[in-house]
Amino acid sequence: MISTLLDGNRRFVTEIFDKERDYFAELAKHQRPTVLWIGCSDSRVPVNTITQTRPGEIFVHRNVGNIVATNDWNLSAVLEFSINHLQIPDIIVCGHYGCGGIAALDEDNDEDRYIPIWLNNAYKAKERVDDKLLELYFSISPEQRMNLIVEENVRLQLEHLQEYPFVRNAMNKGSLAVHGWVYDMTSGDIKVVQRNNVACRD
Ligand SMILES: [Zn+2]
Repeated sequence: MISTLLDGNRRFVTEIFDKERDYFAELAKHQRPTVLWIGCSDSRVPVNTITQTRPGEIFVHRNVGNIVATNDWNLSAVLEFSINHLQIPDIIVCGHYGCGGIAALDEDNDEDRYIPIWLNNAYKAKERVDDKLLELYFSISPEQRMNLIVEENVRLQLEHLQEYPFVRNAMNKGSLAVHGWVYDMTSGDIKVVQRNNVACRD
């Protein structure tokens, strides 16, 4: 597998890089991405492929479950650099149906040490959906329920984003907008998550 990657890199150099030397030479001097992507680490959700974007266009942070944790120094530094230094005007939190991280919210996991701690940051999404389902007079399939939790998790993480004071300030100034998306691995489509029903935190 590793040698396959290096073979792929050689093909990239001859078939793409060498043909667009000016583009990559300019990129080597500076980056001006206009979007910060906060997505899941899942190998089936490759941001540049599913959005047909090029190197230099999207600043990327990925983790299990596309989670925005307010005690995550990794993401904090990414956000600070994106907003204060790159002046990125748009942040996208993108989840995906069939997310193993979100499915694990239903599992009692005694083996892993870190995954359950990490997923605590998404637990409220599951609670909100299950509370709503209790009020319904009809039942939905387990897959539909999981899809709703994936969508609610995106809304929840958008709320967490706004707990960072400098994110909130940039939004209030009008220099930053945040967006919630979900990627469907079975069709390739991206769905925009409606945020009308987001519970207000203040
Ligand atoms: Zn995932």
